Amino acid sequence: MRAAQLHRTNADYLTRQAKFESNVRSYPRKLPLAIAKAQGVWVTDVDGKTYLDCLAGAGTLALGHNHDEIVTSITNFLASGMPMHTLDLTTPLKDAFSEALLAVLPGNGRDYCLQFCGPSGADAVEAALKLAKTATGRSNIISFSGGYHGMTHGALAVTGNSGPKNSIHTLMAGVQFLPYPHEYRCPLGIGGDAGIQALTYYFSQFIEDVESGVSLPAAVILEAIQGEGGVNPAPISWLRKIREVTRKHGIVLIVDEVQTGFARTGDMFACEQAGIEPDIIVMSKAIGGGLPLALLGIKRQFDAWAPGAHSGTFRGNQMAMATGLATLKVLQQQDLAAQAQQRGGWLKQQLSLLQQRYPSLGQVRGRGLMLGIEIVDERQAPDALNSLPMDAELAAAIQQHCFKHGLLLERGGRNGNVVRLLPPLIIDDEQCGLIIARFEKGLTSALAQLRA
Ligand code: PMP
Repeated sequence: MRAAQLHRTNADYLTRQAKFESNVRSYPRKLPLAIAKAQGVWVTDVDGKTYLDCLAGAGTLALGHNHDEIVTSITNFLASGMPMHTLDLTTPLKDAFSEALLAVLPGNGRDYCLQFCGPSGADAVEAALKLAKTATGRSNIISFSGGYHGMTHGALAVTGNSGPKNSIHTLMAGVQFLPYPHEYRCPLGIGGDAGIQALTYYFSQFIEDVESGVSLPAAVILEAIQGEGGVNPAPISWLRKIREVTRKHGIVLIVDEVQTGFARTGDMFACEQAGIEPDIIVMSKAIGGGLPLALLGIKRQFDAWAPGAHSGTFRGNQMAMATGLATLKVLQQQDLAAQAQQRGGWLKQQLSLLQQRYPSLGQVRGRGLMLGIEIVDERQAPDALNSLPMDAELAAAIQQHCFKHGLLLERGGRNGNVVRLLPPLIIDDEQCGLIIARFEKGLTSALAQLRA
């Protein structure tokens, strides 16, 4: 059996996967490989080909694959005789992890307490929505176009993308969407600072107008930089206004930092750029150091839970706390936030240079090591904002050709028209150079295929 396995190719494994697993699988359709091993920023498939990993578990692997400190934390944990799992009972490890995590929350975590949730980002979003309702006695939630918060019923209800929602008929009720700013495609058709000002005004007007048609919400949920929505950074003035208005009306501001959190964007949390403190911060992905872990940082005044009012068996994954603690240590010791800022800045600059030569790259955006390139059809006429039509087909082809050239990329945005880079934060200068070289190769092959 083992010998037979050694001879299986990518294609064999993919055929077997298609037989074993539901039609719901998604990444294998875009990145058709079977992974044999991985180290740092590199992934090797079963055919021996290596790839530079700019997907990194959808941003989960802040320290890359199998980082020494992560591996050591796991081996030490296993040797320690500690329990793997404790529900929400405490341990010295959980105690140390909690202290270290609180210390990196905005304001050094002074006003926050933690809630350990079920292990996924969506689990934590569900908890946040329920807590906001509990704390305010209200039921409506405001979310934003392009937002992504997960696939469970509540989290999906506050997610913008209607694709996965269309066949699910009764999602959580009481969700109102408002337009999220977009640098390249202002949803009000105004653009620039005037567009941001109008969106900011619209938000406060909507909350304060007693005839807006919506009663005061329990919560506003948003990402400070939308990830799956196509790497859209929220303007600082808009975020500050939302903080001001939500505070004034006792609305719980939930900032979903599942993807942006833990130094990815050049700050420990993306909302810190605006100097705002959310009432609830949703955290997952990177904080588990590769193992499943999700938490809320809750401003104590909103900690309205009765004991046991929310629970979940897998709140007590001790090994994920060990890897999480190791992650926090490395992030701080190596100042990976500053590195994300510096290397991300360099990548963004190089991508902007490419943009000058390839007009199909409509816009390069993002912060730190969370970057997006909006792919457009340069053969069409621009709209009134001077933005070209989206070209999701070309974006998909770029992803495929980058894959062939050994670069794993994610896509996001409307119909997947934004090519996204989420490399591990430990990436070095040479590897950044390789990303650009491979991206350009993938781009030119895709253009040769579709623009010939
Ligand atoms: N919120 C954000 C901002 C996310 O990016 C994601 C996952 N991409 C989630 C929530 C959901 O996390 P999970 O897939 O672990 O449920």
